Amino acid sequence: METIQRLEVHDEKVLNWARELIEQSPSARMAGQEVVNAVRRNEIWRGDECLNLLAPEAPTSPIVRKLLSAEVGTRAAEGHIGSLQRWFAGTQYIDEIEALCMELLKKAFNVNYADHRLIASMIGNLTVYGTLTEPGDTVMTMSQPVGGHSSNRSDGPAGIRGLKIEDIPFDSHELTVDLDAFAEKAKAIQPKLVTLGASMTLFPFPIREMADIVSEWGGKIYFDGAHQLGLIGAGYFQDPLKEGAAVITGSAGKTFSGPQSGIILWDDPDLTQGITDTIFPALAATHQVNRVAALAVSAAEFIEFGKEYMGQIIKNAKALAKGLNDRGISVLGEHKGYTETHQVIAKVGEFGGGYEVANRLAEANIIVNKNLIPTDRPEDWDKPSGLRIGTIEATRLGMKEKDMDYIAELISKIVKNEDQPTNVKKKVLDLRRDFNTFHYCFEE
Ligand SMILES: *Cc1c(COP(=O)(O)O)cnc(C)c1O
Repeated sequence: METIQRLEVHDEKVLNWARELIEQSPSARMAGQEVVNAVRRNEIWRGDECLNLLAPEAPTSPIVRKLLSAEVGTRAAEGHIGSLQRWFAGTQYIDEIEALCMELLKKAFNVNYADHRLIASMIGNLTVYGTLTEPGDTVMTMSQPVGGHSSNRSDGPAGIRGLKIEDIPFDSHELTVDLDAFAEKAKAIQPKLVTLGASMTLFPFPIREMADIVSEWGGKIYFDGAHQLGLIGAGYFQDPLKEGAAVITGSAGKTFSGPQSGIILWDDPDLTQGITDTIFPALAATHQVNRVAALAVSAAEFIEFGKEYMGQIIKNAKALAKGLNDRGISVLGEHKGYTETHQVIAKVGEFGGGYEVANRLAEANIIVNKNLIPTDRPEDWDKPSGLRIGTIEATRLGMKEKDMDYIAELISKIVKNEDQPTNVKKKVLDLRRDFNTFHYCFEE
């Protein structure tokens, strides 16, 4: 008999654990229960006992969570809003939900057009590349060590679209685009699209100047605001559409604090047909109407509380950055006030590197992620020297600047090996007992 060679990209240890558990379960029902148990373990640990400082995460409000399990999530609703443009009958209330969502998004972001059907922000990237480029076109995007994201690189949607990808020159000291170098390179290669997309994002970009440069040959700016979306909506980060970008996409589940999925926004009526036709029928069919309902209510919460919430997120990030830097853990962007977003990027190469430090922090129930920084090489993505720390969840739990200084103290004890993870973990548990309700949202 032929032996079957297994090829797993996933961690085989974990897969073997699952396979054994399933095989040893007396019934399929018990195997199903194991899933429920793992969900519950995560809920207790990450939900109640951890200090979650991952920059791309936000806890959704009680109403949003409830809507995510609503009956409407079992209904099929492909197509555009309105019975004539649907494949299925019986969608009148679904039309209402979707229209409310779209109009709330337009209001929250003060834009002419929005779409609610992207089940992930990655689908937004693909929508933009599908609408505004042809295979073989040249685009300019940000490389990973300076904050770029795979969605705009050869291994992501931009690559899948068959685009030629050139790096946007970046000033690693000022932590923004090197405008002179950009002008020179862009004029030489005349990219059809320039994507400003950063998952490590601290400061604004010279969008207006870049838009002027590329307009000479009809090029466009695409702002992938996955991270900054909420900050943009609340008026704290630059407003890319008003500064000359053609289109914005973003994650609904990062600063915006809605259900994980994507949002796309634009002002120019000439883009409407193309974008809408790319979303449906190319990239979305049944687009999870429960999620759309949850997104709509999170937009309403954002309209009500976004200004205060997003403002506190940035104040907290600045306080956390200063707290770390004052304790000898150097933070990028010190000369510019550290950050204008929810992110703090710490350099931990001298303390063991991002991977090692992030895992030590996780032993103390402090969750952050390893991150490339501009001095790292792209191929060192698995062993980078930075840490990315975000303040969305801590802020939604009601924490303020003084709490950030205390968190900086806890982090520094672990980073500098001045205390045992078990001791720091006790302090994290105490802190989480004091901060256990969500703010900036409607009551259930
Ligand atoms: C997180 C991120 C994405 C992908 O967002 P999802 O909502 O996870 O699909 C795309 N672009 C950038 C710059 C990101 O940081």
